[in-house]
Amino acid sequence: MKYYILFGPPGAGKGTHAGALAQKYNLKHISTGELLRAEIAAGTELGREAKSLIDKGALVPDSVVEGMIETAFDTIKNVEGFLLDGFPRNLSQASDLDAILAKRGEEVTAVVALMISDETIRTRIKGRAIIEGRADDASDETISNRIKTYHAQTEPLIEYYKKAGKYYECNADLGTIEDNRNRVLALVESIGK
Ligand code: ADP
Repeated sequence: MKYYILFGPPGAGKGTHAGALAQKYNLKHISTGELLRAEIAAGTELGREAKSLIDKGALVPDSVVEGMIETAFDTIKNVEGFLLDGFPRNLSQASDLDAILAKRGEEVTAVVALMISDETIRTRIKGRAIIEGRADDASDETISNRIKTYHAQTEPLIEYYKKAGKYYECNADLGTIEDNRNRVLALVESIGK
């Protein structure tokens, strides 16, 4: 099985390009953010607890997202691998993922990173707020906190995966959505060659 991590700051286009990658390589796309929003929409206890953290721009507890990921690995069949989007998001999630995969005799295949500037994060998220109506996209304060959370907790994963020889990056800031998608597809195609 392949285990790709789609990595990048909020607004980098992970969700936008995941479908094309998943289709091309027969992967199941798993977005922890989408799974959490589904819990919120369903009004579950987990959703209620997650909502207050998400609305602040903070991360939900590791155990919550790791449980979702393990359930997905246990239950989803008939794919050639997984495309993880928004997970892992800090160093402990990354080392826990390594352990979860090691138990299965598997490992992370590659990290595909989409890079954009902080300025682009803000303009993309503000545009998306109008289209998707996400509460965590609407407030400047929440966006600022998500940018801070990204730099403090998520960015250190770049070094972690570089050391493991699994880090592949492309620019996702320039050109049209189509241009960016083509860059991402070409990057994944180049991995392992
Ligand atoms: P974005 O890429 O725009 O930040 P996501 O849908 O990936 O959007 O995430 C939305 C929110 O869900 C995050 O700001 C965070 O609060 C929560 N979240 C998603 N994935 C994780 C994770 N792996 N660990 C902790 N919190 C998460």
